[in-house]
Amino acid sequence: MHDSLLVRLPKGEDLLAALVTICREKGITKGHISLIGALEKAVLGYYPQDTRQYVTHTLDAGTEILAGLGNVSLKDGEPAIHLHLTLLKGDFTITGGHAMPGNILFAGEACITPIDGPRLHRGLDTAT
Ligand code: ZN
Repeated sequence: MHDSLLVRLPKGEDLLAALVTICREKGITKGHISLIGALEKAVLGYYPQDTRQYVTHTLDAGTEILAGLGNVSLKDGEPAIHLHLTLLKGDFTITGGHAMPGNILFAGEACITPIDGPRLHRGLDTAT
């Protein structure tokens, strides 16, 4: 059993890219992620079950990350992050979605818990 990591996420960097870098550096190929913090810019995705193509929504104003939940697996031999975000906007309404590339960190604290056992490789599921 590996210990969980509690790491600070770098201001100005892409959220998903920062998580991939940490996982690569620490050799984490499977795990659970929970994080809080704030974004300077958010890019959220919604996956319509009929068209199966992500629809994206960009927020250029700062938001608070109330909850980020996700996991780490492997795709093409590299750590792949699947992360969902619940965000608080400046008017105290909530939004959220699937974290797309382009989320720019203002600040962040992530807890990454490695999971033991066989490696998990991400592939295409034709049903979803
Ligand atoms: Zn998702």
